[in-house]
Amino acid sequence: MSDLIAKLINLKLISKYSAVYLNLPLTQLTSIKTIIQKTDARIIIELSSSPEDVGIYPLVNKSGYLIKIKGAEIPDSYYYEEYNNKINYIKAYHYSPTEVWIQVKLNNSADIEELIEESRIILDLSFKDKITLPVLVLDPGHGGIDPGAVGPNKTFEKDITLKVAKRAQELLKPYSVDVYLTRTSDVYVDLHDRAVFSNEKVADLFVSLHLNDYPQDTTVYGSEVYYFDFSESAYARRIAYRENLDFNTDKTLIETWVTDKENSLDESEKFANILGNYLNVNGVKLRGVYTAEFAVLAYTRSPAVLFEMEFISNPKVVDEFTSGKYVDVFAEIIKNAVIDFFGLK
Ligand SMILES: [Zn+2]
Repeated sequence: MSDLIAKLINLKLISKYSAVYLNLPLTQLTSIKTIIQKTDARIIIELSSSPEDVGIYPLVNKSGYLIKIKGAEIPDSYYYEEYNNKINYIKAYHYSPTEVWIQVKLNNSADIEELIEESRIILDLSFKDKITLPVLVLDPGHGGIDPGAVGPNKTFEKDITLKVAKRAQELLKPYSVDVYLTRTSDVYVDLHDRAVFSNEKVADLFVSLHLNDYPQDTTVYGSEVYYFDFSESAYARRIAYRENLDFNTDKTLIETWVTDKENSLDESEKFANILGNYLNVNGVKLRGVYTAEFAVLAYTRSPAVLFEMEFISNPKVVDEFTSGKYVDVFAEIIKNAVIDFFGLK
């Protein structure tokens, strides 16, 4: 009896998924990549082979697009990623065992141009609303299990960086700039994810906040500002490796990335120097403006600066942060430098 039931269930399963057995192999959704710019975006959907059929349909009120791919499957069965104020989210899921639907939900209506070439579907979106505010991403260093440097009285770098970032965001509220924080609470965020966050917000400026540490001499104090400098070929290799890009098939993607970064160098240096000036104005000692290849600076596409505000190893510095004075001072310095950099009023 139980044998019979088992057979019946099997039969039912086979008939339900017959398409799976008859049409093997299904093409696999291997990746969804995006290049998001201020007024346009490119979405690249990669499959392991040519699908049976692809259809692209506008969603109600042109609030996005639905891509129906027949003869396809998603290895992880589901994909969901949120983006920014232009692209709300991209969601891929199984409509049936042999059909994948990808929903591109927009916050901002866009015209679409599609290019389907064998195993790749390219969607070029051109947003209709071209007015955008400059975007600043503040990155409070460390967080969660990573306390950063630890100063006197168990003062953690992660707590100070978060306080300054939140205060700076507050001070910038009256101005025409969108400010995002890579973390808003005491959580661990991977370095690469911080850069990804910034790129998805299409940041115009990325500022990573840190504190220096020099326990060998606790009287050392002052600020250091770093911006990214690079050699083009080494950088292309690094991006390709980190972003899982292929030098042949993703050539344009890598090239765009390198060009973006190249174009951002002058701006990074400009902001670093503006920041330096405001340090001097506010009586904080500027030890220097330097170039470096920190990960967060490398993987952000926008101008990017890493700001070592002060030395947490210096007890006097820690006192100033604990009293709240330095939280205000550094937030004010960041605010003024940002206003100056973007030419805000
Ligand atoms: Zn740090």
